[in-house]
Amino acid sequence: MTTATRKILIVEDEWKIARFLQIELEHEGFTTVIEANGRNALDRIIQENFDLVLLDLMLPEMDGVEICRRVRAVSQLPIIMVTAKDDIDDKVKGLDIGADDYITKPFALPELLARIRAAFRKHTVTEQPAEKNVLNIKNLALFPNRYEAEIDGQPVELTKKEYDLLEYLVRNKNVVLNREHILQEVWGYEYMGDTNVVDVYIRYLRSKLDEPFEQKYIHTVRGVGYVVKD
Ligand code: CA
Repeated sequence: MTTATRKILIVEDEWKIARFLQIELEHEGFTTVIEANGRNALDRIIQENFDLVLLDLMLPEMDGVEICRRVRAVSQLPIIMVTAKDDIDDKVKGLDIGADDYITKPFALPELLARIRAAFRKHTVTEQPAEKNVLNIKNLALFPNRYEAEIDGQPVELTKKEYDLLEYLVRNKNVVLNREHILQEVWGYEYMGDTNVVDVYIRYLRSKLDEPFEQKYIHTVRGVGYVVKD
C-alpha cells in the first residue's frame, strides 16, 4: 500500500491544530479527515475505513482515552494519541489504553511523521483480521473464541482451567471476588469447600503473567480474595 491511499482521521477540537495537521499530512501524500467531536469520532472510526487515527485527549462529548478503549474492543487500527503536555496522564503514558504511541504538543512535524510511519510498519507486519469479543487488561488480551491469552502480542500458554479463571477475573475487572465465589463460578459446585485450589491456580497464573512480564495483573485483597485491575 502506498501512502497516497492511506487515510488518516484527525480527531482534534482545536481547529488551528487540526488544519495544520491536515495540511502537513496531505503534503506528505496522506488523505485526511478532521473530526472535532469525540462521540462522532468514535462512530466514524467504527463505520468508516481509516488506516490510522491521530487522537487528541481532551475532546467534547467523549475523551480520547474512552474512544481508544472502545475502538480497541473491536479493532487493532493504529492509534496515536496527540496530547497537550498538561493533560497527559499515566494511562496514556503507559499506553494502558491500547494506543500504539503518543506524542505531546507542541511537537516537531518530523517526529510525528516518524511515529506515523512506525505505526504503519508495526501494523503491516502484525496485521490480522479484527477479532470480536477480545478482552483487554493493560497489555493482556484474552481471546474467548480460542481460549488463548497474549501479552504484548506474545502468546501465554495457559491450561483450560487457568484460562477460565483468568477470563472470569478479567470479565469482572475491578471487582474484588472472594474465593468461594470464584470456586463456584469457575470450578462449579463439586469443589465447594476446597478454596485452596483457587490460591494454587492464582499462583500458576502469576507465574505465567506477572513474573515473566513484570506487570501485576492479579491483586490479593487480604481476608477477601482477588481482583484484576485495569
Ligand atoms: Ca482538545
